[in-house]
Order: sequence, then structure tokens, then C-alpha cells
Amino acid sequence: MDQPILIDTKMHGMEGITGCFVVKGSERTALVETGPKSSLEHVLKGLEDAGVDALDWIVVTHIHLDHAGAAGTLAARFPTARVAVHEVGAPHLADPSKLWSSAARIYGERMDELWGGIDPIDPERITALTGGDEIDLGGRKLTAHDTPGHARHHHTYVDDATGIAFTGDAMGVRLADVGVVRPATPPPEFDLEDAIASIEKIRALGASELWLTHFGSQKPQSQDEVCDEAVTALRSWAEWVKDARASTEDLDEIAAQVQKRAEEDLGGRLTPDAIDRMEQTTSYWMNTWGYVRYLDRKAKAG
Ligand SMILES: [Zn+2]
Repeated sequence: MDQPILIDTKMHGMEGITGCFVVKGSERTALVETGPKSSLEHVLKGLEDAGVDALDWIVVTHIHLDHAGAAGTLAARFPTARVAVHEVGAPHLADPSKLWSSAARIYGERMDELWGGIDPIDPERITALTGGDEIDLGGRKLTAHDTPGHARHHHTYVDDATGIAFTGDAMGVRLADVGVVRPATPPPEFDLEDAIASIEKIRALGASELWLTHFGSQKPQSQDEVCDEAVTALRSWAEWVKDARASTEDLDEIAAQVQKRAEEDLGGRLTPDAIDRMEQTTSYWMNTWGYVRYLDRKAKAG
């Protein structure tokens, strides 16, 4: 079986930050992730270049707009395709109004410019998956593994033909050409313990390679190294947020302190361009807000 094909969605006009993946079986073809609707033209071009004239499955790791925003538009374009999504996320692809308004709390007036809208999907065409469910592509299957933490509704998919795991945002962001993990910890659902448990679950899958939506294969880095780095980053950010909150409850101020600590920690290894590209995927501010929400929730629960 062929290797999956990486398509760069060129989200927000930037290369190498958000991918989607073509997986061809002997009978059926899947697209894993869609990018946002605003960059769909690049996905369609990528499909054409990959010789794909019909999709049978549109599979998303989770429903955030940079992963599933174009799913409805693609489903309309490929009318026989089914859409596979975590069961918790499924209702929000059928009726994306809550998904949209929830994202608007983060992105405000920039919603249309950034994401380009989102089209609903006929519920009849949605397959709601739970962990362990398989998508049969003919001689090749994708298996869903529940990997919450970044969000409750998050699956990692393993391609049994190559052993490649498509980890969505479960590992955080690690742009192949930058090679540094930034956790992806958005409000309102981010949960530190779940996120770490999911990374350990992915480690235990023994995949041949980890392919991150943001962005691409992590080879030649070993899986263990990427998993270790991802867990360390999650724990470090938690400490930085807690430390900053000892002196302020102002979100902008906390985020500024976290950014300072993160950049010190990396010892100037990030260029301004790399930081700018990572900010497009999960910003210091959004990550900080996600940690604050998580810490408050935990404190409240005692
Ligand atoms: Zn996400």
C-alpha cells in the first residue's frame, strides 16, 4: 500500500502549518483532516495532484475549524462521501452553530477572514465513531483511538498498512521544519491529565511514525523523543501559568509572562518566523486561556 499523501492546506496563507492526508485503500479513499474552509482551494488542488477524483471518507480527528472546517463543503463536493468523526463531535458537524459561536469567543471579528465559514452536514452522512472503530478502505483500515485532552472529542487514527498514526492535536504542535513542541491547550475543554494520558496511549500504540496535523511526519525524531518532549512541554506550561497567576489574574499579562518563559526555555531557538507560524496554530494567548480554564475547573472540583 502507498504511503499516505500529505497535502499542505496553506492555512491563513502560510506553508507548513496545517496538513491533511490522503489514504488510499484498494477500494476506497479517505481524506484525514480537511483544514478550514478558507483554504479549501489548496486541498482541492492537492487532491487533484494526488489523482483523487472522488472521496469515500472524510475523516477528522476533531471538530475544531482548522481540522474539520471544510468537511461540510467537501461533503457537498463529493456527494457519496461519508464523514467520520468522534461521537461527541458529530452533532456539531450536523449543526455547526455552537461550534462557530464557541470559536467566535476566541477569534472575535476575525472569524470569517480566518475560517471562511462552515457548512452543515446531513446527519445521515455522518458516521459517529468511538474508540476502536475501524474505517475499511479495502485491504487497509483506519482505526480510531480515543485521545482526549486537547478536546474531549478527539481521535487519533492509525493506518494499519503503514503503521502511521495521525495524531491531530493530541501531541500538540510540532512543525516539521521547526522541531519544537508547543502544547495545544485551547479553552474550554483542555485537560492536562487527559492530554498526558493520551500521549502515553499514543506512545503505547507503537506507530511507525507520528503525523501531526500541525505539521507532518516527525521523522527522524523518534516517537519516544516526541512523546517525552510533548509531556515535558505540557507540564512546563502548567508551571509557567501557575507562576504568572501568583502575581496577576490579567489574561494578557499571564500570557506575556508565559511567552517570555517559553522563549527563554527554548534558548532563542525559535526564529520570529517560526513563532509567527506557530501562533497561527495555537497562540500563547489561547493556550494560556486554556490552562487558566483548566486550573479553575480543577480548583472548583477540589
Ligand atoms: Zn484543535
